[in-house]
Amino acid sequence: MGIVVQKYGGSSVATAEHIMAVAERVKRGHEGGLGLVVVVSAMGKTTDRLLALAGEVSREPSPREIDQLLSTGERQSVALLAMALHDQGIPATSLTGPQAGMKITGRYGSGIISEIHPERMRGLLAERQVVIVAGFQGMNALGDVMTLGRGGSDTTAVALAAALHADRCEIYTDVEGIYTADPRIVPKARRIPEVSSAEMAEMAWRGAKVMHPRAVELGALYGVEIHVRSSFGEGPGTIIRKDKDMERLETRETIAGIVHDLDVSRVTLTGIKTGPGTMSRIFTPLAEAGVSVDVIVESAPKEGSSDVAFTVSRGEFAEARRIAGEVAEPLGGEVEGEEELGKVSVVGTGMLNRPGYAAKMFDSLGQAEIPIRMVSTSEIQVTCIIPATRVEEAVRRLHEDFELEERDV
Ligand code: ASP
Ligand code: MG
Repeated sequence: MGIVVQKYGGSSVATAEHIMAVAERVKRGHEGGLGLVVVVSAMGKTTDRLLALAGEVSREPSPREIDQLLSTGERQSVALLAMALHDQGIPATSLTGPQAGMKITGRYGSGIISEIHPERMRGLLAERQVVIVAGFQGMNALGDVMTLGRGGSDTTAVALAAALHADRCEIYTDVEGIYTADPRIVPKARRIPEVSSAEMAEMAWRGAKVMHPRAVELGALYGVEIHVRSSFGEGPGTIIRKDKDMERLETRETIAGIVHDLDVSRVTLTGIKTGPGTMSRIFTPLAEAGVSVDVIVESAPKEGSSDVAFTVSRGEFAEARRIAGEVAEPLGGEVEGEEELGKVSVVGTGMLNRPGYAAKMFDSLGQAEIPIRMVSTSEIQVTCIIPATRVEEAVRRLHEDFELEERDV
């Protein structure tokens, strides 16, 4: 029997009607002969609401209790979906993360999956039951429930697909798949029928919101084929597969898409004395404070001093600036910050070993007189940090100049 893991996000289970519609789809898969494991997120904005509640009763809620609380959102939706399926005459059992054998380690609020014991799920599948698993949670070594961090249900689904050697993992969401750019900004953006996991991982890390980047990477690592589809229609969606097109790698002319992110701030330490260990003096305290840094640029030292700039998300800007200030002072430097930035990236394995993509991007932004604050590149992407107010225009320009609407993707 072929096993398929399906995952339904919060917007797909937002109301009782939505849950019944999901039950319809699950029923069709079940009757078509598939062994189904269904991962669900909390209904609609439940997780946000629970977090806000925690903030109302406590100034600093304990991470353990936050996980205890947030895990209940997914427990509601699994039970409700099981009931909806029973109503349709489909045998189904809901499981919390711990009941499904998900073992988690790491920190509360950002757990990582260490092991999966799939015996219970396998037993239920053997009885031809639909197995419904609460996303984004598992049990730690103390026997406590621990979550994987926001958006973690995608990771649960892909991990289960790997552990159960499923044929594929289907991610159901409120959009038709992955697009060459955000269709709300570029109406002519096209759905990408198939994308490599390497490209998808870059797109996800750089701002494509449809799938959690961690889940994409996990899928790549274990060779899980992922299908991203709309839960509201029957469209084919996007298939994410490990470099399906190796043979075309060198002849491929194109890039996969343009992604953007408006959640970027920059902190700059100017005129700091540099020498061995300076970078670690700056970035170790940031890491210890749990601030995640994205792009880092150091200027060439002039007379023993240089500038170091880095980007963080806006939520971490104040903290990063404070820490940078403490480091800059003894090094004789100062700190500047720019909060309202964004980033725009051109992503595609087509640019591997081919020069010219960065130049083309700079030219396109230059023509539009969009100032570039920082640049970061890897083999398959070029990212420019620009003012937040210019991001939409940049995305439209790049989509046009790279001729993304015209080609057959
Ligand atoms: N409910 C969790 C969240 O909102 C997990 C998820 O939906 O993936 O972050
Ligand atoms: Mg999500």
